[in-house]
Amino acid sequence: MHDVDDADIQAVVEVLKSDWLTTGPKVRELERVFAQTVQAKEAVAVSSGTAALHAAAYALGIGAGDEVIIPAMTFAASANCVVYQGGTPIFCDVDPSTLLIDPYQVEKLVTPRTKAIVAVDYAGQPCDYDALRKITQKYDLKLLVDACHALGGTYKKKSVGTLGDVNAFSFHPVKHVTAGEGGMVTTDDPVLARRMRIFRNHGITTDSHEREQKAAWFYEMQDLGFNYRLTDIQSALVLSQLTKLQHFVERRRRIAELYRESFRGFDWIEPLEIRDSVAHAYHLFVIRVDSKKSRLTRDKVFSLMRAQGIGVNVHYIPVHLHPFYQSRFGTKPGQCPVAEVAYNEILSLPMFPGMNDEDVRHVVAALRSATGRTKD
Ligand SMILES: *Cc1c(COP(=O)(O)O)cnc(C)c1O
Repeated sequence: MHDVDDADIQAVVEVLKSDWLTTGPKVRELERVFAQTVQAKEAVAVSSGTAALHAAAYALGIGAGDEVIIPAMTFAASANCVVYQGGTPIFCDVDPSTLLIDPYQVEKLVTPRTKAIVAVDYAGQPCDYDALRKITQKYDLKLLVDACHALGGTYKKKSVGTLGDVNAFSFHPVKHVTAGEGGMVTTDDPVLARRMRIFRNHGITTDSHEREQKAAWFYEMQDLGFNYRLTDIQSALVLSQLTKLQHFVERRRRIAELYRESFRGFDWIEPLEIRDSVAHAYHLFVIRVDSKKSRLTRDKVFSLMRAQGIGVNVHYIPVHLHPFYQSRFGTKPGQCPVAEVAYNEILSLPMFPGMNDEDVRHVVAALRSATGRTKD
């Protein structure tokens, strides 16, 4: 859930009173500040996380005939961006302990047609980038990171936002910072950044040098693009939110710590593992329900929690099981067994910076009362 305060509201009001509502100084300022925040050379603001993924897939040159390897355990948008570009999604299974894309399985899926890997920092934990980079180097592949869960995270001290060739973020209200709707792509490659700036603006260039050479009204549409622009109004909101990012991430980590401590007393609740090499950004706090021990299915725990007014959820239905993917690409159940088994066991607990310690204890107590039993 989002956390919008008076300073955020004031920042938006100031833009509404200014000369620019869209594509003005606030977009440029946000791109500069965001690039600095994640220590990337370039940041390109767009209208959603989905637009960020689409722009990234476009910039990497993904097209018809290209295969792109994508983890099964993610939101559909991680795969849809490949389909928008006419590419073929190849679904890859995940590591059972983290539910992150499994590099060993990735390598088995590489063919001469493979163009790229989409890595998703599921729940906010960065993937095993050393292993993924070995594969991209060995087979000359691109790495597109869906970092929509992981703003503020690190892998071996390197910021999320610098780990892929292009990295996509979302400013949806459930994410770390919000614009209502919005997104960002980061890259260290100025050529890719320029391509994405043209793509988000109908494919139109407005090169100032060309304008000087020809006429002030001159522009050219060089490729088919979209209107994926972020407004100055939204940019002002994100800029104000970004001043609180560190606090938001720290609060999420503290909530996770409280959950983890509490679950030592439960034999039927297993939080996902965290690798030593990462700083987790905790978009989600995901547990696995061991229904043999709890004698309750995940679905039953889900409805008992909802009945107590607690906003649990399930992230995600494995993408290859969606009817669209089954009918268009012939994907089927059984294809990614680890993700499919996990799908029946996972439960996302409430996780947002506005929760206090008491709220966390309330969620834990509700889980305890769900089965009426813990380890002790
Ligand atoms: C939120 C999210 C998106 C899409 O972001 P929007 O801003 O809603 O378009 C894509 N991928 C993942 C993993 C997400 O969590």
